Amino acid sequence: MSTFKAPKGTYDLIPPYSAKYLAVRDAIAAPLRKAGYGYIETPGFEDVNLFARGVGESTDIVTKEMFTLTTKGGTNLALRPEGTASVLRAALEASLHKKGNLPVKLWYSGSYYRYERPQAGRYRHFSQVGAEAIGAEDPALDAELIILADQAYRALGLRNFRILLNSLGDKECRPVYREALQAFLRGLDLDEETVRRAEINPLRVLDDKRPEVQKQLVGAPLLRDYLCDACKAYHEEVRALITAAGVAFEDDEKLVRGLDYYTRTTFEFVHGGLGSQSAVGGGGRYDGLSEMIGGPALPSVGWALGVDRTVLALEAEGIELDIPPATSVFAVALGEAKPVLFALVTELRKAGVAADISYGGKGLKGAMKDANRSGARFAVIAGDRDLAEGVVQLKDMESGDQSPVALADVVEVLRGKLA
Ligand code: ATP
Ligand code: MG
Repeated sequence: MSTFKAPKGTYDLIPPYSAKYLAVRDAIAAPLRKAGYGYIETPGFEDVNLFARGVGESTDIVTKEMFTLTTKGGTNLALRPEGTASVLRAALEASLHKKGNLPVKLWYSGSYYRYERPQAGRYRHFSQVGAEAIGAEDPALDAELIILADQAYRALGLRNFRILLNSLGDKECRPVYREALQAFLRGLDLDEETVRRAEINPLRVLDDKRPEVQKQLVGAPLLRDYLCDACKAYHEEVRALITAAGVAFEDDEKLVRGLDYYTRTTFEFVHGGLGSQSAVGGGGRYDGLSEMIGGPALPSVGWALGVDRTVLALEAEGIELDIPPATSVFAVALGEAKPVLFALVTELRKAGVAADISYGGKGLKGAMKDANRSGARFAVIAGDRDLAEGVVQLKDMESGDQSPVALADVVEVLRGKLA
């Protein structure tokens, strides 16, 4: 034990468990990479105003959840609470959108920070893999992203998840709806904070999870009935494309999501095994965000999937990922054989074989325990007598069979057996 512990609301990823996280990140990224999304990495912190303006002054993320700090130079920064605003900021800064290559398709993977009340599936440090398609208004892009996320989850073996889909309208039709909803909300019995929220961002009241609020929302006007023809047609096209791809989804007229920048297509991935933190990921179209942060009009769409909750979802479904052992060959050196086997391990690694060796001067028993623990398929064992004969003992760790192989041939023999 050290004097220190991981800060509240955080946890460490430790082998072998951490391998799951790598596998989940890889599985989410794989379909994106094959669909033309390029990898982007941005700093862990940004100007606090990027999020205040981009994510929205009235959102929980900005009002309650940001970790902010002032540098010695007096700059106000925030640890990033989400990815989209940073990715768009970086794309604009690098003028990616000016090179005639719209849409700019990007994916990212990293740590995010929110000052929340920690509970299962809700942490102060968590990780996401996300994707953004910047600078094109095309229902096929919205559909592509939803299909790719579905593909990632299916590749992981997840079955007990649902895709909720809605359209939030655009700057033509949403204001009309907003007013109708506001008029409805003014007639309800709501607490002070919710009344304030209803005035600043009434759509977000629909997102309120408290039963006493949800009960009163029965009969609230639905955005669906207010969508303009352009938004309706756009949404129908997205729905048709996803349906044609065989991806099941549910229309959810109350889905609004917690960020201000969403327009038109909005979606959420929810999992049945996560209790109250049921959202594993979400996203949507954010046509106005670029202008909100000082850029040109760049209609865009994206999503972020939470890695932590995806791992919890896998556990809830009892899915064991097929993670191959890190080591294929383990060397056990006895007597004076250490330098020879150490050189052999280096050679194996150069040849692309995952190899390891026992350290710390252990005897045969201890070193064989290491070999077992490593999960290696083969052990290479040698002592002084073997070396005098120019051989090593090759042991198949599954069958237990052991036979001598010429030291000069052992790399080729192992490569052949492992191929
Ligand atoms: P929630 O409604 O659960 O608070 P959210 O709408 O704030 O979620 P998003 O901003 O859409 O979440 O983030 C996308 C995904 O990132 C979530 O679906 C979730 O998997 C993950 N995520 C968000 N906040 C946390 C957190 N505090 N701890 C762990 N994962 C999180
Ligand atoms: Mg949240």
